[in-house]
Amino acid sequence: MKKIILTADRPTGKLHVGHYIGSLKARVELQNSGEFDELYVMIADSQALTDNAGNVQKVRDHILEVALDYLACGLDPEKTCIFIQSEIPALTEMTFYYMNLVTLSRLKRNPTVKEEIKLRGFEESVPVGFLTYPISQAADITAFNANIVPVGEDQLPVIEQAREIVKTFNNLYGETLVLPEAVVPKQKSQARLVGIDGKGKMSKSLGNCIYLSDDEQTIKQKIMSMYTDPDHIKVSDPGKVEGNVVFAYLDAFIKPDSFEKYLPEYKNLEELKAHYRRGGLGDVKIKLFLNNILQEILKPIREKREKLAQNPEKIYEILFKGSEKANLVANKTMEKIKSAMGINYRKDFANKK
Ligand code: ATP
Ligand code: MG
Repeated sequence: MKKIILTADRPTGKLHVGHYIGSLKARVELQNSGEFDELYVMIADSQALTDNAGNVQKVRDHILEVALDYLACGLDPEKTCIFIQSEIPALTEMTFYYMNLVTLSRLKRNPTVKEEIKLRGFEESVPVGFLTYPISQAADITAFNANIVPVGEDQLPVIEQAREIVKTFNNLYGETLVLPEAVVPKQKSQARLVGIDGKGKMSKSLGNCIYLSDDEQTIKQKIMSMYTDPDHIKVSDPGKVEGNVVFAYLDAFIKPDSFEKYLPEYKNLEELKAHYRRGGLGDVKIKLFLNNILQEILKPIREKREKLAQNPEKIYEILFKGSEKANLVANKTMEKIKSAMGINYRKDFANKK
């Protein structure tokens, strides 16, 4: 079977280290492995507008920022089709037909959407577009016949809903759409990177992020302010590793040679955790260790990003070219959908002539 991959990010802010570890790093590795047939990466501006209708400028500005983050991390437009969601009209059309396949109560039950509504303080005044974003996400995925969707853990219920839509469509109208599969990092700390405040997942909308574009000083400041264990007051106090943001990040970002390079007195993370639990290991030491690890990852990304940012026209050219290619694929799927549903009147009429 063909391996077709689609992922997306909302241009609601610059990308953060949660995106990197949860999805972007894997996309680049996949792209470079060559083990795929088609790879699509979408900047989901239409989806971003569902909770930013009054803030179009923010969404507009971040299309470029997200694209810069992609390219700085190594996505290559020669191998990956990078495009803008609103440039693909068929996606909106598909969404409209898929809406008939989902009930309101099912939408309201989606745990991710439920949590996001709560976090955004929407209560009963949730925009219809926001509540229905899982339907438009089903359109994004199926338009490109994607069978693999690499996402963070928070998106699992949304992909599950896309799968239900595909099954309902195929049952009603015959085998037409490809059933997608979510792929989440195996490691829990990577699949859902916690925010620096330790309260929820790192999220652009919550302002608890370390961004890929943050400068060296800002990264260090954010790490030094990270939530650890409130009961670990003196260095000699025993400390908790669970719920401790610094250890969650060490779990997510540690590399095989990190100890040798930056903290050679320990062999591995288990040894470091054991010392912290026993007492006698201060927060500053583990924070500086994490700082070294993250600076090493982020420096080359930041430097590449700065170079790319000098030429925004070139970035838009890449996005428009990608969107043209994406349109060809999505339009073809749209035709298939219309034929399956029996609403391809023009084609039928032409065939009868
Ligand atoms: P917003 O607050 O606007 O929803 P976000 O930070 O949640 O922004 P998205 O654009 O919604 O980012 O997510 C893009 C992709 O990154 C999705 O696949 C999502 O699962 C993944 N992702 C987002 N945040 C994290 C995180 N903290 N850890 C791991 N993966 C994440
Ligand atoms: Mg999100």
